[in-house]
Amino acid sequence: MCRLPFAELLDAAHIKADADGGAASVTNGLALCKIHHGAFDANILGISPDYVVHVRQSVLETFDGPTLQHAIKEMNGERLRQLPLARAERPSRDLLAERFEAFQAAS
Ligand SMILES: [Zn+2]
Repeated sequence: MCRLPFAELLDAAHIKADADGGAASVTNGLALCKIHHGAFDANILGISPDYVVHVRQSVLETFDGPTLQHAIKEMNGERLRQLPLARAERPSRDLLAERFEAFQAAS
């Protein structure tokens, strides 16, 4: 989802957290920049099992500078930009569904 050409700025984020028993596997992972990794972990944004980004309503109603606007709010409703060509390597829809429920509960 990140429009950044620098791999140095990307983290390997867990969909299901380590602390919740999430595996360190490709299908439990998302390549996210530092901002989106933090936002995902903090339920500021969620990713539904159909690979669409959802931003928490209270965040959408917050008005601040261009970073919040462009980096977070404008991601709402966007589909993930790049998925692995091999289906077996794509983020697990089951894990995303489980994680998305937690996002919705926190929203
Ligand atoms: Zn990002």
